[in-house]
Parts: sequence; structure tokens; C-alpha cells
Amino acid sequence: MYIHFCEEDGCKEWGSWGNSASPAGATRWWCFEHFPHKSYEQEQALRRKLEAAEHGNIVQ
Ligand SMILES: [Zn+2]
Repeated sequence: MYIHFCEEDGCKEWGSWGNSASPAGATRWWCFEHFPHKSYEQEQALRRKLEAAEHGNIVQ
């Protein structure tokens, strides 16, 4: 098993989102929050999730 955590400084999240600049290049990993290659829709979904958590109104 290859172990990879989010490469953002200070972030201890699991890096489940990978991206490599080229097929030969090393893959870099981030958690969903720090992943720099999200689509617009993924960005909006994350923003809504963070806002909901901030206001403490997560629907169980
Ligand atoms: Zn992270």
C-alpha cells in the first residue's frame, strides 16, 4: 500500500485526491479541501459544506 497524505503544510488529512503534471511525473496528493484542481461544481459543493458546518446547521 502506498501511503500519501495531503501535502498542504500543517494538514493531516488523507490525500485521496491525486494529480500528476505529466504521465511520467510523480503524483501529488491532497485532501478534497486543498486539492487545487477541483472543478467549479466540486468547488461550490465544498463551499456549501464548509458554510453549513460553520453555521452548525448540518442536516443529519
Ligand atoms: Zn489538506
